[in-house]
Amino acid sequence: MKRVPDAGMRMSTRLALVFLLSSVACATNPATGRRELSLMSEQQEIAIGRQNDLEVRRAMGLYDDHALQEYVSTIGLRLAQASERPNLPWHFSIVDVPAINAFALPGGYIYITRGIVPFLENESQLAGVLGHEVGHVTARHASQQYSRTTGAGIGLLLGSIFVPAVRPFGQLAESTAGVLFLKYGRDDELQADQLGVRYASRGGWDPSGIPAMLTTLGRLDEATDNKGVPNWLSTHPAPENRVERVRATVQQASNETAARAGTDRNDYLRRIDGLVYGDNPEQGVVRANRFLHPKLRLAVDFPDGWDVSNGQSDVVAKQPGVNVFIILQTVNRPAGRTIEETAVRAMESAGFRAVAGGPAIINGLDAFVGTYEGSLQGVGRVRVRAGHIAHNLSVFMMAGIAPADAYDRSETTLTSSIRSFRPLTAGEAESIHPNRIDLYTAREGDGWQSIAGRQGNGILKPTTLAIMNGHAVHEQPRPRERLKIVVGG
Ligand SMILES: [Zn+2]
Repeated sequence: MKRVPDAGMRMSTRLALVFLLSSVACATNPATGRRELSLMSEQQEIAIGRQNDLEVRRAMGLYDDHALQEYVSTIGLRLAQASERPNLPWHFSIVDVPAINAFALPGGYIYITRGIVPFLENESQLAGVLGHEVGHVTARHASQQYSRTTGAGIGLLLGSIFVPAVRPFGQLAESTAGVLFLKYGRDDELQADQLGVRYASRGGWDPSGIPAMLTTLGRLDEATDNKGVPNWLSTHPAPENRVERVRATVQQASNETAARAGTDRNDYLRRIDGLVYGDNPEQGVVRANRFLHPKLRLAVDFPDGWDVSNGQSDVVAKQPGVNVFIILQTVNRPAGRTIEETAVRAMESAGFRAVAGGPAIINGLDAFVGTYEGSLQGVGRVRVRAGHIAHNLSVFMMAGIAPADAYDRSETTLTSSIRSFRPLTAGEAESIHPNRIDLYTAREGDGWQSIAGRQGNGILKPTTLAIMNGHAVHEQPRPRERLKIVVGG
């Protein structure tokens, strides 16, 4: 959750769809040379990319590290220049998201997450990830998938959302984790791998960074308990023998050029030393069922066992298995309005009618707690218990929402979560720091278990530590090996 004025929801995907449907033509695929049905012109691809790039930036935010952004951008642009479509308006950015992923929008907008960066071992692997995504754009996979996805009514579900109807609940985890929607077919993946090898080796990098990076992402997928947070492999499905198949292409590329740049591991490690790992306190942190936001100086306890998802403009907690949830976000308070007027007006404009309510003091803060009725797409009639709470010149809304026929069972739980809203003291706020990547030289007798344990709080599992350092989980670090570790704030 970031401190943003609550912006109106964007309908850009709908608009994009309208113009998608306006032209269908046959064209030559620039990357593959094949003739194929083209659903959009290059101008349309660029327009869709540009429009959705704004959504991505607003919903995910860019990682605040100029040098690292510059580094990624320089590599990306060099890859793009080596592609068949050097003249697209290419953009390469690191989004401030802990998930491990990379994605592309039509027209040349490419993103990697902050979370994928520490799992790469050197520049050639980074070039491999970026080159793979460039391939999705040059071969028009991104635009084809975009057409299919928006055709199914999904598209980019990002943004400031009070009315949850714009975010289908089935996809809550996906959209609030803020990651990707464009899923590719297996053939597209193989092709993007091949194109990535082509661009990386033309750009001068060692193309074996691509199978190495794919190996790491494959290990991660095997090791993680999939919690519904989309990662690389859920949006880039792995065909059989993918690593083997790309190795053959790498072999061929290696015979043709002497490209070997980007293999200096220490250089890459120096660049990522200090990188934020996991939640970034700038946007608030989730610790078990508690949400803490040091900048906004607030803490909230969501009910035990609920899934808490910290989005860019709101925090959503959902009771597993049912459509009962709590949303925390800021609400505009027009000048001169009381908290009650602000609350009722905001709820009305979101389509909810007040049926009861009264002033309250919540942990010392002025509030208005009301009950509202309305309906939500995909859920039907709902009842809402909402607290609008004045804190530090802002008004925060904690809204508990349940289907009308299930509301009575949930009311106590919703109310007690609303009443848990409290200010953080300066001391509490200052004690919340992000976890960061640090460098460590392995000693004789070190194992992943002992290194992970030394950090004291089990931030990383030993298996994750192994994979992050380019090892299979059954291998151990070598003495004097330089390692990426994660240290607590
Ligand atoms: Zn892919």
